[in-house]
Amino acid sequence: MTTLTSLTQERRLVTAIPGPKSLEALQRRSEATSGGLGMAIPVIIERASDAILLDIDGNQIIDLGSGIGVTTVGNSTSRVVDRVIEQAQAFTHTCFTVAPYMNYIEVCEKLNAAVPGPFKKKSVLVNSGAEAVENAIKIARHYTKRPAIVVFEHSYHGRTNLTMALTAKNMPYKEGFGPFAPEIYRVPMPYSLRWLGDKKTITEDAMEMITHKIEKEIGAHNVAAILIEPIQGEGGFIVPPKGFLPALSKYSTENGIIFIADEVQTGFARTGHMFAVEEEGVFPDMVVTAKGIAGGLPLAAVTGRAEIMDSVHASGLGGTYGGNPLACAASLGVFETIEEENLVARAAHIGEILGKSLRALAAKYPIIAEIRGRGAMQAIELVMPGTLDPNTAAMSAVVKYCQSKGVLVLTAGTYSNVIRFLPPVVITDELLLDAMGVLEEAFASL
Ligand SMILES: *Cc1c(COP(=O)(O)O)cnc(C)c1O
Repeated sequence: MTTLTSLTQERRLVTAIPGPKSLEALQRRSEATSGGLGMAIPVIIERASDAILLDIDGNQIIDLGSGIGVTTVGNSTSRVVDRVIEQAQAFTHTCFTVAPYMNYIEVCEKLNAAVPGPFKKKSVLVNSGAEAVENAIKIARHYTKRPAIVVFEHSYHGRTNLTMALTAKNMPYKEGFGPFAPEIYRVPMPYSLRWLGDKKTITEDAMEMITHKIEKEIGAHNVAAILIEPIQGEGGFIVPPKGFLPALSKYSTENGIIFIADEVQTGFARTGHMFAVEEEGVFPDMVVTAKGIAGGLPLAAVTGRAEIMDSVHASGLGGTYGGNPLACAASLGVFETIEEENLVARAAHIGEILGKSLRALAAKYPIIAEIRGRGAMQAIELVMPGTLDPNTAAMSAVVKYCQSKGVLVLTAGTYSNVIRFLPPVVITDELLLDAMGVLEEAFASL
């Protein structure tokens, strides 16, 4: 049913970046769109397939960002596109809470089966990661009848009013947008590169600080939920030390606290598991998903223990567009693609290639302080030589160089000194190695 032929999976530059057509269109962008919007690469996109973006000047750019970890299964991949077209011809909207339809139910069945945990699960679908996080908090508070939410340093959970309060970094996410929602408590994140204490006992020491804060300053019996990203995304791909997530999960269970994993960025085969918590066999009470869930159509979900998800009165949850049929059709295409193309294993393979290239780079360039992440979600943190001082200038120069050569990479980090790699996991080995070659040239050019 897909009519346009796919783009060749190769990098090709026919103009400078941005080319003349993009330059002209970007003028219209700045006339028409809010100055509050950022832009990672200054081009206008005409088409995309898998890991290649085609701009209106005819340049083919390698996509190592996946629209922030969204097009994991490849951009405009056929199983997604065909299902969306078919659904658009059938019906575009009824509102699930007005007149239900099958593909919403099927997506929830798939989620309930895929999310880890040997207990009965149920799901609710919404439109964005932030909305899903908000719903998880609503449900946790309703179920526990407790007000407090515990979140972490360096966390990112979205840009709505409640999720701004949950997010750590002030600039650009919170600056001038307050006041923020109450009853949110922030605790230390064991960020090993920048941990001031003994790194050998980081898990125990972090747990000690966190439980002390909960018990002395909040009262464990007042805490509805502990909310954490299993690998922090915008914070700079900070991977908690082994044993930390299991310890946090155990503490939550012992204290009647709902343990919520925000898998919005880490979920859907990204890390070499379907969900990142699988790495250490953790069973969250609730898992929040979005980004990779529907190949770019707006969809997000909360999946959790049935008794928690069912504790809300009828019509306490919902929304006009939540679980839109086109987005659900796309999501079923995503589940099918992950299964049939073995993309969980493919993400682990991408991780090996990425890890090898980045380690070779770090051996040559001591401004790379650390390589972090898992599978097709990895990052490098850049510092001034011989120190831990953030090297924002090097980050910007590397990103700019890569862009000028047709490779799109994203940045991250509390200190704005992290380059992150989130390629579609269907990227070919050749294309990824070509991009890594450009990255190496970028470091050599510093
Ligand atoms: C992107 C992100 C969100 C917010 O998702 P939106 O769809 O942008 O609202 C929440 N949590 C994490 C971990 C994210 O990466």
